[in-house]
Formats: sequence, structure tokens, C-alpha cells
Amino acid sequence: MTGGAGFIGSHLVDRLVEHGDAVIVLDDFSTGRRGNIRRHADSGTVRIVEGTILDDALVETLVGDCDRVFHLAAAVGVAHIIANPLGSIQVNSRGTENILAACARHGRKVLISSSSEVYGRGGRVPMHEDDDRILGSTVIQRWSYATAKALDEHLLLAHAAHGLRGVIVRYFNIYGARMDPEGYGSVMATFVRQALAGDPVTVYGDGLQSRCFTYIDDCIDGTVLAMETQPAEGQVFNIGDATTEMTIDDLARKVIEASSSSSTIVHESYEQHFGAGFEDTRRRVPSAARAAERLGWTAHVGLDEGLRLTLESWEQVGAV
Ligand code: UDP
Repeated sequence: MTGGAGFIGSHLVDRLVEHGDAVIVLDDFSTGRRGNIRRHADSGTVRIVEGTILDDALVETLVGDCDRVFHLAAAVGVAHIIANPLGSIQVNSRGTENILAACARHGRKVLISSSSEVYGRGGRVPMHEDDDRILGSTVIQRWSYATAKALDEHLLLAHAAHGLRGVIVRYFNIYGARMDPEGYGSVMATFVRQALAGDPVTVYGDGLQSRCFTYIDDCIDGTVLAMETQPAEGQVFNIGDATTEMTIDDLARKVIEASSSSSTIVHESYEQHFGAGFEDTRRRVPSAARAAERLGWTAHVGLDEGLRLTLESWEQVGAV
């Protein structure tokens, strides 16, 4: 697995180990953390390799050593992408190219993690996998992430036409234990960190933009089902929970309330954080119909429950 020390990757490692699999983790520890997989360090079932997916020779060897590949390594997070667009594009495009080429050479099945960001600013909701993508200009750095992820999807599908067995999942704002509190600044992680510290909760823009939040356990269920459902090969699946749609303003209130925090909410302009010319997605809602029909996947953990579990785990590890 690539990116196995990351937030989502480490949960997937846990699940695979529970199922009795041996796992090789390739991670460069840029946003991944050793603590996320420490419990497996001496288990003998998880081999941890520090390295980058840009290292063709390493990728070639490791892919040869396993029987299937979950490719989760990526430069993630809007703030991170904007701060380092070149490195992010290279990891997210060339890195995936390496992984897919090695999987094709070795005849390994592969799952790649894509993102709801590929839909771009969004047209109609809910977003179906085959919908058009609506992205802004190339001068807006944010869209480089969606573009790289879309290229990854194209590459997998192109390889699939030549016999590669592969599947694509598009994650919608996944949250839960082990979210990186600083590293890539997803809104949920940022709000939880701010609320638990009693700091102001920072809502960007007017706060009326909305997202759907998918709990990590549901995300892992969908990921494993996508890999293991043979007729799903060569297809794309949204992994997102439409029932949790919420504006960012409401999310801020909810997180403050659930954590009994004394934090206030402050509104800040996009420009303050991302510089001039930032574009945001106004509303992002998945259709999970295909995942339900073809994978038998539905989300089970609602936002209240998921937030409660997240806060619990966060307080346990003292991640503030
Ligand atoms: N956001 C915010 N305050 C923060 C971080 C993010 O208001 O401290 C907003 C962000 O502008 C976006 C939404 O929350 O409208 C979701 O942001 P995130 O970075 O989690 O990911 P996105 O869904 O945009 O990819």
C-alpha cells in the first residue's frame, strides 16, 4: 500500500491486518505519521518502507513483492497544494504513473484513491461518477489537484483497456481519528483542533458553501469493497455520504457544540488564506447510488456519531 502511514491509509492497514493480510507500506512520511502505524511496527505482518512513489526502482521492486496494490499516497489538501503546486503535481501525476506502470508489468490489481475534487466547482448535485467536470482556469493553482487526479483516473482506465485490473474511488471529505491536525488542514481537522484548543474557529468566505462528510470506517468499507468486488474493475465509485450535507457555518457551530468549546466563530476571506484569485466549490454532494448498487456499500455513521467518535479519539491521543 502506498500512503499507508497517512490518515486513510493507516486505517486501511488496520483493516487489512485484521483480515489476516500481510501489508507492505510505502510512505515518504511527508504528511503520513509513524505514530499512525506504530502498533504494527513489531508485528511482523506490516513492512514499513520509507520512500517515495517517484522512485521507479523501489516501486518496481515493492509492487513485485505483493499481490495487489492500494495506491493512497498523494500530496493532499487544498492549502498544501497551493503552497507547493509543483511538488504536488509531480507526486500526484508521475507517482501514480509509476505505480500503474509497475502494476501493469507485474499483473497486479490496483485501487487508486481519487477525490471528489475532480468534479471541480461542480454543476448539478448530486454528483454522479459520469458527470461533467467543471474546473476553473489553469492560473488557479487549486485546480491542479483535480487535474492531476483526473489524469490518474484516465491513466488507470487506459491501462485497464490493455488488461490492467484496477478500480477508482473518489473520496468525499473523509474525517475521523488520526486526521492530520496541522498537515493539510481539512476543514474538519482544523475545526476540531481549534475548538478543542478554545481558539477561534475560522470559517472562510460566507460559510454557506457545503460539503458532505464521510466517516473513516465507512470510507474503509467502501475502499475494501471496491478492491474486492470483481465486476467493479475498470469503474469509478463515489465514496461519500449525501445525507451529511452541511454548510461550513453549521459545521463550525456543530463542532463547537459537540466539543463543549468556548470558541467563537470568525469569518475570514479566502484571499487572507489562499491569496488572490482563489476559487471554491460551492456545494459538493455525492450520488452513492452506483456504490450501493454495484458494491453493496452505504455509509452507516452519521455526522453526530462520527463527530463524537472523532472527538473521543482526538482527546485520547491528546492531538491538540
Ligand atoms: N474551510 C474553512 N475554514 C478552514 C478550512 C476550510 O472555512 O479552516 C472551508 C474551505 O474554504 C472549504 C471547506 O471548508 O469551503 C472545505 O475545505 P477542505 O479544505 O476541507 O476541503 P475541500 O472540500 O474544499 O476540498
